[in-house]
Amino acid sequence: MHRITVIGGGLAGLTAAITAAEAGAKVTVYEAHHTLGGRARTSEGPYRTNDGPHALYNGGPHWSWLQQRDLIGPLAPLPPLEAARLRLRHKGALRRTPPFAMLKLLRHSAQQAPADVDFMSWATGQAGEEGARAAAHYSAVALFHHDPGALSAAFVQERLRRATKLPPEAHYPRGGWAGVVDRMAARAWNLGVRMETLSRVDALPTDTPVVVATSLDAARRLLHDDSLTWPSGRTTLIDLALRTRRGDAFAVSDLDSPGWIERFTAQDRTLAPAGEQLLQGQIPIAPHETRADGVARAEQLLDLAFDGWRERVTWRRESVANGRTGAVDLPGTSWRDRPGIDRGDGVYLAGDQVAAPGVLSEVSFNSALTAVSLALGRNALDLKHA
Ligand SMILES: Cc1cc2nc3c(=O)[nH]c(=O)nc-3n(C[C@H](O)[C@H](O)[C@H](O)COP(=O)(O)OP(=O)(O)OC[C@H]3O[C@@H](n4cnc5c(N)ncnc54)[C@H](O)[C@@H]3O)c2cc1C
Repeated sequence: MHRITVIGGGLAGLTAAITAAEAGAKVTVYEAHHTLGGRARTSEGPYRTNDGPHALYNGGPHWSWLQQRDLIGPLAPLPPLEAARLRLRHKGALRRTPPFAMLKLLRHSAQQAPADVDFMSWATGQAGEEGARAAAHYSAVALFHHDPGALSAAFVQERLRRATKLPPEAHYPRGGWAGVVDRMAARAWNLGVRMETLSRVDALPTDTPVVVATSLDAARRLLHDDSLTWPSGRTTLIDLALRTRRGDAFAVSDLDSPGWIERFTAQDRTLAPAGEQLLQGQIPIAPHETRADGVARAEQLLDLAFDGWRERVTWRRESVANGRTGAVDLPGTSWRDRPGIDRGDGVYLAGDQVAAPGVLSEVSFNSALTAVSLALGRNALDLKHA
């Protein structure tokens, strides 16, 4: 029987553990934190927040994998009336529809964008500067980067398409992502996976193949390999509970600069106490900007879209997520150029900043499957259908 060690018990680690155990391996997972889930954890307490605004995209590979195993659980569908309350800030004013020029970039027939040019240059040629800028800023909902227009055109276009698809790809597990994590952990447990929490690994084991399913920063330290780097976003996170007021927006996207605020109780009333609404926002900030700059921009959006919000606040939290929102690809690069999964000597990387396709957590999922297939010497497709 194969034995495999998995370091990290987030989505990548749990995916790797389940996949390896389903293929018959004896798996041990070590997780530094006292609970599993990593960045997919949902906080305990009256306000059930994920680590920043989180949605599960149903067009991705992890969706069908989770669904086949009955691991998604109940969803909190967005009522159509609420969906109609999506607002966009453009030229300082709130509107319901995107500027016409931006729509040109969302057409099915829009050309495939190249990877070697920045999005802003390519999109300006397609739709003019105003449409290109609005589209770049909208895509920040799935990018978390302060200057999406400067990234690879192909990379941004894929995120823009996924984030604007109709019917929407974004789905919300009821009660936050914690339910999905719990079901994955239970599945791993039932397959005989040994999971040790509060177990930080400081040196790689040498007696089994090992899947390092930590953040790339943690993997760099663990492998003593300074080449393990890749650009990511830096974003201010703001969580707010407000007393309920009829007519609040469902979400507001900033087309003047990147930023997104969403009222998660619009789709899931269980996330905040009765009579209150839970809002989560992310405002990407440049390297020279501070959390306060992001918060100031968030407050401008709130002033526009949530009448009287300042008098309605019952709870508030702010933080900065630095390099925690997955990989971004610069012009001339694609996911294939990121740190490779196979590090040699039976060590494999999984996570959202390594060489695997997909949007956000899909990269963690895809890299976990590849890492396990390499570790077990099996075809990744066989494992997907195991
Ligand atoms: C603000 C924000 C919003 C996001 N929104 C979305 C979204 O809408 N949709 C989406 O698909 N994705 C989203 N993501 C991305 C998603 O959360 C991540 O891609 C995914 O959770 C990463 O999972 P992972 O297992 O690769 O890494 P992690 O979740 O970081 O897991 C790594 C684990 O390894 C553990 N660890 C680290 N070092 C060690 C060690 N030495 N020993 C043992 N354990 C260790 C850590 O404690 C952690 O639990 C968002 C992320 C953020 C921060």
